[in-house]
Amino acid sequence: AKVALCACPDYNPDNVASAVDRAVTLCGGMERFVRPGQRVLLKPNMLSAAPLERRVTTDPAVVRAVGKLVLKAGGRIIIGDSPAIDKVSRISRVNGIKEVAVELGADLIEFCRPTLVKTPRGSIYHALELEETVLNADVVINLPKLKTHCMMLLTMGVKNLFGAVVGPRKSQWHMHAGTDRIMFADLLLDICRTLKPALTILDGVWGMQGRGPNNGTPCHLGFLAASRDPLAMDLAIAPLLGVHPASFPLYNAAVRRGLARSDGSGTQMVGDDPSQIFPKDFQLPVLESVMPMPGFLSGLIRRHLTSRPVQDPDLCRDCGKCAAVCPPESLRFVAAHRAVIDHLTCIRCYCCQEVCPADAIHFKTGALVGIVERLRAVMPY
Ligand code: SF4
Ligand code: SF4
Repeated sequence: AKVALCACPDYNPDNVASAVDRAVTLCGGMERFVRPGQRVLLKPNMLSAAPLERRVTTDPAVVRAVGKLVLKAGGRIIIGDSPAIDKVSRISRVNGIKEVAVELGADLIEFCRPTLVKTPRGSIYHALELEETVLNADVVINLPKLKTHCMMLLTMGVKNLFGAVVGPRKSQWHMHAGTDRIMFADLLLDICRTLKPALTILDGVWGMQGRGPNNGTPCHLGFLAASRDPLAMDLAIAPLLGVHPASFPLYNAAVRRGLARSDGSGTQMVGDDPSQIFPKDFQLPVLESVMPMPGFLSGLIRRHLTSRPVQDPDLCRDCGKCAAVCPPESLRFVAAHRAVIDHLTCIRCYCCQEVCPADAIHFKTGALVGIVERLRAVMPY
């Protein structure tokens, strides 16, 4: 697969348009993906209604530039997502995507029609409930934002497609697969293989580092990337951010399933020189660092070893989002600003931290983690 990397210093509309055009051209040109009259679904990251400067969502300049190329190719545009808590209408008003949708004459929708679909051969999950609009689109163009992710280390092309899982069903999946990062990575891979986006264009002009995907710090990276293969893109970009492949759940799942080669061969980077773009000090999540464990440390024991969520009442704004999103209902409020978390039933899905607008939920490393880390040093697995 080819991954095109194009420097883009800022969100100036002309700079973004030129970088998007160049990246898409390196992938074969928009006409290769979109034919006149086709319904083209653009799927940006619209996680929450955070101000644009926090770099939580795909920048509207990227959506606009891609949308213009789609219109030029004769496509009809739908822009949609299924945010974990907020509504698309509010998020798009705050981040400017609503204005872009009007400008492009696009329908802006909230995913709310889950449809059962069979997954392709070789999937771990045989059927998935995914948004009907995405399944019925002639072409899906995936527009992720580059961010760290406290559960999956990074969110880029593959993880962005989890947005096709409709609202409340996200929690059910977190409940089902959320305790195991590799199992969750398998789910993400199956969603990606089912939706088969024609093109993925990654917004890495400004990304998020640290405690992503909602509470990290903005990080200027200055690039856009495009590829027909979101998995190839994610696996090519992760090492450039300082990620050791073995610590990236998506890499482990993809290699185990034969969807990627462990040596990265088969992926061709084209465009600008990565060494001129990527910083040496990109901050990956630390508290929730991915910690593969031996197989026998599963279930309950694993839960005692993984980081535990703790809530800071002093920062809490009482919005209730954490309790609403918690799949096993382990988090509840006993007084204003004060939540209690049942750590026995908590599945460590990191949803509460992801949705908290006040960065009031942190993860505390388990006391036994040090022992496991020492075991890892002497045990081959
Ligand atoms: S308390 Fe937080 S981490 Fe635990 S299950 Fe609930 S949402 Fe997930
Ligand atoms: S901890 Fe965060 S998400 Fe939960 S109620 Fe407080 S501010 Fe809202």
